[in-house]
Amino acid sequence: MTFRRTKIVATLGPSSNSPEVLEQLILAGLDVARLNFSHGSPEEHKARARLVRELAAKHGRHVALLGDLQGPKIRIAKFAGKRIELNVGDRFRFSVTHPRDAGNQEVVGIDYPDLVKDCKVDDELLLDDGRVVMRVERVTADELHCVVLIGGPLSDHKGINRRGGGLTAPALTAKDKADIKLAAEMELDYLAVSFPRDAADMELARRLRDEAGGTAWLVAKIERAEAVADDEALDGLIRASDAVMVARGDLGVEIGDAELVGIQKKIILHARRYNKAVITATQMMESMIHSPMPTRAEVSDVANAVLDYTDAVMLSAESAAGEYPVEAVQAMARICLGAEKHPTSQKSSHRLGQAFERCDQSVALATMYTANHFPGVKAIISLTESGYSPLVMSRIRSSVPIFAFSPHRETQARVAMFRGVQTVPFDPAALPADKVSQAAVDELLKRGVVQPGDWVILTKGDSYHTTGGTNTMKILHVGDPLV
Ligand code: PGA
Ligand code: MN
Repeated sequence: MTFRRTKIVATLGPSSNSPEVLEQLILAGLDVARLNFSHGSPEEHKARARLVRELAAKHGRHVALLGDLQGPKIRIAKFAGKRIELNVGDRFRFSVTHPRDAGNQEVVGIDYPDLVKDCKVDDELLLDDGRVVMRVERVTADELHCVVLIGGPLSDHKGINRRGGGLTAPALTAKDKADIKLAAEMELDYLAVSFPRDAADMELARRLRDEAGGTAWLVAKIERAEAVADDEALDGLIRASDAVMVARGDLGVEIGDAELVGIQKKIILHARRYNKAVITATQMMESMIHSPMPTRAEVSDVANAVLDYTDAVMLSAESAAGEYPVEAVQAMARICLGAEKHPTSQKSSHRLGQAFERCDQSVALATMYTANHFPGVKAIISLTESGYSPLVMSRIRSSVPIFAFSPHRETQARVAMFRGVQTVPFDPAALPADKVSQAAVDELLKRGVVQPGDWVILTKGDSYHTTGGTNTMKILHVGDPLV
C-alpha cells in the first residue's frame, strides 16, 4: 500500500465554497484547508471550517485548518475608472493625501503613510506581484514621484512591494489581532503570520494566541527580504515558529526571481533541521486557474519541492478562485506520488555526526534509522499526545509510513501537515497496558497496511498524558502475540 507522503494545502474561496466541490477536494487528497483572512467575513470562514470538518469526518479523513492572517500588505487605493494602463517612461505618483477612490493616470492614493518615509530616490517599487515596476525619482512629504520601468495594467487595491524589502510595517495589524481571536474561537489547527520580520513578531503572535486561548501552531510566512538576508535572521524566525511557509509570491518580488530557487531549498533545509514543518507556496499550478492540466514547468516545480523534501505544497488562486480546483488537487497528488518514487525522496543521512537534544527526539530518530535499515519494517506507530514525535520522525527521509496514534482532535488534524504521517484516532489510556501494542497493530492489520510476518516499530511514553514523554521504541513482529 503506497501512501502519498507530501501533503496538499488548498486555499478555499469562491471556487471551492460549495459542499460538492469541497467534498471532491477532500476525496482528491486535500490535507490542509487554508482560510485566507485577506478575503471574506468571519461568518464565511466559520461556515467553510464547519463544512470541512463535517465532510472530512464523513469520509474518515483528517483535514487540518490553517488560518492565514492578512498582515501589513501595503496596497494602493482605488481608481475612479477601476483600472489604468501604464507605459514604460510614464510618470506616476503615490499619494498619502489624494482621495482614496479617485486614482487616475497620474496619481493614486495609498493607505500606508509610512511608505513615503520608508522610500528614497532610486528605490524600485513593484506593483501587483511585480507585473508593474517603477523607480522612485523624487520624495516629498506626502508623495512618491516615480517613473515606470515595466508597464502594464494597474487596478484597484493592488499590492506594493519594495525591491530588497525594508518597509517598516509591523507584522500584526489591528485586523490580524482580531483574527487571532477568531482563529482561537474556531479552534484552527494552524495560524500563518504574514510578513514577520523576526522572532519578536512571532513571539508577539504566540502571546496573543495564548491570551485568546488558541492552540494553533504558528506558521511564519517567509516573504520579506530581511527574513532571508542571512542565516541568523532566517534561523531566528524558524526557531520562533512551529512551521514555516516559503511564501514565494511576495518573497520572489522582494528578492528577485533569480534568488528564489536557492532560497527555497535553504528554507526547507533549515526548517527541517530545526524540526519544523514547511509548506512551499504560490503559483505552483498557476496555469490551472484557467486550464484543466498543469504545464510541464509546473509539474517540474511541484516535483522539485517534493525532492527538496517539503512537507506540503500549496494551492492559492488555483483552488480559491480558479476554474479547476479539484483537478488542481488531483494533479498535485499525482505529481507528489511520482516524485516520491525518486531515490532522493527516500535516502537519508540520518543526522550522522550530530548530537540529539531530547529524549523523545532521540527515540524518534532511532526509530527512523531502524526503519530505513531494516527492510522488514513496513510501518511506524507513534502513540502521541502533541504530535511532536511523528513531526521529528518525518524530518528524516524515508518510504516507511508513519502513523500518529492519538486520542486528541487537535493532534489528529495537526499531523495532517507532516510529510509521511497518517492519522489514526486511538486512545491507549482506554486499554489495559498489556493490550495496547496488540490493539495498535490490529488497527494497521484492519487497514491492510501490514500483514503477519511484517515488522512494525512502535514508540510511546510511560505515561500517555505527558507531552514530550516518548522514551520507548519497540520492534514488533506482526502475527506474534504482542504485549
Ligand atoms: P499570500 O502569501 O498568498 O498571502 O500573499 C503567500 C505568498 O506571498 O507567496
Ligand atoms: Mn504573501
